[in-house]
Amino acid sequence: MKLNELKKMTEPLSNTVKMPVLFLGHGSPMNAIEENEFVAGFRNVAKEIPKPNAILCVSAHWETKGTFVTAMQNPPTIHDFGGFPKELFEVQYPAPGDLFLAKETKALITKTEVGLDDKWGLDHGAWSVIKHLYPNADVPVIQLSLDYNQTPQYHYELAQEIKSLREKGVLIIGSGNIVHNLRMLAWDKLNAPEYGFDWAIDANENMKKYILDGDHKPLINFRSHGKSFDLAIPTPEHFLPLLYALALQEENEEISLFNDKAVAGSLTMTSVKIG
Ligand code: ZN
Repeated sequence: MKLNELKKMTEPLSNTVKMPVLFLGHGSPMNAIEENEFVAGFRNVAKEIPKPNAILCVSAHWETKGTFVTAMQNPPTIHDFGGFPKELFEVQYPAPGDLFLAKETKALITKTEVGLDDKWGLDHGAWSVIKHLYPNADVPVIQLSLDYNQTPQYHYELAQEIKSLREKGVLIIGSGNIVHNLRMLAWDKLNAPEYGFDWAIDANENMKKYILDGDHKPLINFRSHGKSFDLAIPTPEHFLPLLYALALQEENEEISLFNDKAVAGSLTMTSVKIG
């Protein structure tokens, strides 16, 4: 190991310009190995932002009782899906972990006792998108879990506690999908370039309006909008990472959307950049 690498690993995170925050619609795990407009969107957004010191990812695919951060030197690539080609199971994303960031995140969160996890790693909600942002796996990555017992308001408030990480060169990424109903997937439209059911487009348009207006309350109260939202968010885990991202938005901070398309009827890839 080179001396400067060792220094980087043993030195607490230094102050930098404030990092943007991302919410990435990850969609199918196949996006990890396919070339399409969405992965091009991920690559482009990485070019628009400073290279981070580290990444903290809140993935839809890590739900726990209580809150945890991954705290291992070399997080394994987890292939947490079934029925996909061998090529996808062979993908490795060997980004290092970051014990300092894990401990700092734990220290910042006062809402609950955050556990340091040594069993998880990087699930596909994290690596299938981060590999397009930083293909060389040269930025350390930790994950923060979603406590499945907590309310949307709780998640939003917990996320606000880690705001200061943005000033330390940490790129915080929420990875999910704002419209995500796998039971209603239009299997015959899987390969169509763009296709959304009326309710999916309706929910997506309304969510976008709240996102762009900085009006987070109606998004936190996503169960109070009726049918299109209920179909778009049958279970909360793919939606909650959006609340983590929005909770980190400062007043009057710029916000933009990309990859804003519906696929296979009941999914939208809509992604958000804050700052
Ligand atoms: Zn997913």
